[in-house]
Amino acid sequence: MHTASLVDISDTITDLIMDRTRAPATRTRYRAPLVGFAPADDPRFDELCALVPDHLHPRELLPDARVVCAFYLPFSSHTVTANACEERVSEHWARAYVETNALLSELCITLVAELERIGIPAAWAPPTHNFDPVRLVSAWSHKSIGVICGLGQLGHHHMLITESGCAGRLGSIVLGTGTKLPPRRNADGSFCAFDRGCRVCIQRCPVGALTESGLDRSRCYARCLENDARFPQWTADVCGRCATGPCALQPMHHSKSSGEIPVV
Ligand code: SF4
Ligand code: SF4
Repeated sequence: MHTASLVDISDTITDLIMDRTRAPATRTRYRAPLVGFAPADDPRFDELCALVPDHLHPRELLPDARVVCAFYLPFSSHTVTANACEERVSEHWARAYVETNALLSELCITLVAELERIGIPAAWAPPTHNFDPVRLVSAWSHKSIGVICGLGQLGHHHMLITESGCAGRLGSIVLGTGTKLPPRRNADGSFCAFDRGCRVCIQRCPVGALTESGLDRSRCYARCLENDARFPQWTADVCGRCATGPCALQPMHHSKSSGEIPVV
């Protein structure tokens, strides 16, 4: 295919996401979404698959994958404050989790249909519950994809910290033949202040799952399941208290990047 025939899908995707989150049909409110792109042949996808053997490569979602797009929907500061004030997950945060997962799925379905309408094949993976229930590792880690697409970096709490913080949710889609790679985002510098002494996420973890040495996934997930039992009307296996600290709404900027391969 000649370069001249490639389609720039950046505006189509960004406009649709902006439009759906500006006045959403949810009680949850959002700050401005972030959208990032990466070529499907970025070697970090291969590295990710080597580090996490069950993780899918973009080509396993779409055989002729050309571009990967990740997007982040940041919760309003009100949602963050509500969860920071309760040791158990707040109803507000649980609702935001449930509503945003549904919104992300709806966005992906709409984006794929819209792109296919203009001749671009596309595919997506669900925003959550796509992980191995024993090892608690995702087959398609939106957080890792978000790092590769330049949306941000992983913090000590294993959340993605973006230019709009870590309190929000992520989705991603894979685009096929005919897609032109949009300009790439650059999330340089260290967004987490752990190396500068910040321990807020550790202090806020109610069950000791987050420590100086890292995250105990099993303990964290057990807490999420306990929280889920509180909301029989939803699938709300979520906690998020560690995402209500100083990096919730913005990064803790520093000049050096960790350079780590993102695995979550
Ligand atoms: S609370 Fe502090 S240490 Fe924890 S992820 Fe955020 S910036 Fe890093
Ligand atoms: S999500 Fe909750 S249980 Fe898990 S590490 Fe964060 S604060 Fe701890």
